[in-house]
Amino acid sequence: MTKLKDKVAFITGAAQGIGKAIAFALAKEGASIIISDINLELATQTAKEVESLGVKTLALKTNVSDLNDVEKSVEEAVKVMGRIDLLVNNAGITKDGLFIRMKKEDWDLVLSINLTGVFNLCKTISPLMMKQRSGKIINIASIVGEMGNAGQANYAASKAGVIGLSKTLARELASREITVNAVAPGFIQTAMTDKIPEEIKQKMLTQIPLGKLGRPEDVAAAVLFLASPAADYVTGQVINVNGGMLMNT
Ligand code: NAP
Repeated sequence: MTKLKDKVAFITGAAQGIGKAIAFALAKEGASIIISDINLELATQTAKEVESLGVKTLALKTNVSDLNDVEKSVEEAVKVMGRIDLLVNNAGITKDGLFIRMKKEDWDLVLSINLTGVFNLCKTISPLMMKQRSGKIINIASIVGEMGNAGQANYAASKAGVIGLSKTLARELASREITVNAVAPGFIQTAMTDKIPEEIKQKMLTQIPLGKLGRPEDVAAAVLFLASPAADYVTGQVINVNGGMLMNT
């Protein structure tokens, strides 16, 4: 398959989970893949696995919350790959707790990675896309950013912020043929949700019409659509991949 032949994708938090599934989905369509993650060892291993599909890969250690680090990674990516056509802001963490007990450092940490991280990547890569007069930015938000979730004030605020940032950039960058969209997953089976206690997971399942957690590949399929030429006329949207847990009008 060659929908993304000659395209270069920069994916953050791509060493595992949803980011890794996105890397595979885009590589299967012929894109060269930059696997950027805070964990270089795992990123290198994932890059090798993706490379076996016959595409060029590059593993980079990047802490998305650090603008200097992001700038260095993007410089290296452009040196090796020549350009960046697709940016997938996927790196994200949780640090849950009821708001009344939430520590300021847990608020700051989650916002710095989940929201400022997206700012840092967009700030560094969008000028390159503006010069190219083409590009697609896809930000991984969350259902929680749309509906809230007890115990996740920091995470919900960060993801609601990602949605607002995506819509604003979609308006600002449209004249340069750059699209910006978000994907809002529901509950997906990854290391992030493995941490959730079993009884809470069972309760969550009762609220999902499709009756099961999603797979990273389910999210990757939506990202692939937004990254492909089929979505050239789609910008400023939030695609929900949540088994029907939230149905927007
Ligand atoms: P995951 O399995 O924990 O993978 C996230 C990756 O990002 C990990 O490799 C992690 O490394 C890395 N990372 C953490 N901090 C980073 C930083 N500062 N800079 C760069 N990379 C960093 O998580 P996931 O479930 O695949 O989630 C991916 C995205 O989907 C996140 O934005 C998440 O909020 C969103 N999402 C997930 C779900 C879900 O149910 N899983 C639902 C909605 C939205 P370490 O493990 O070493 O920290």
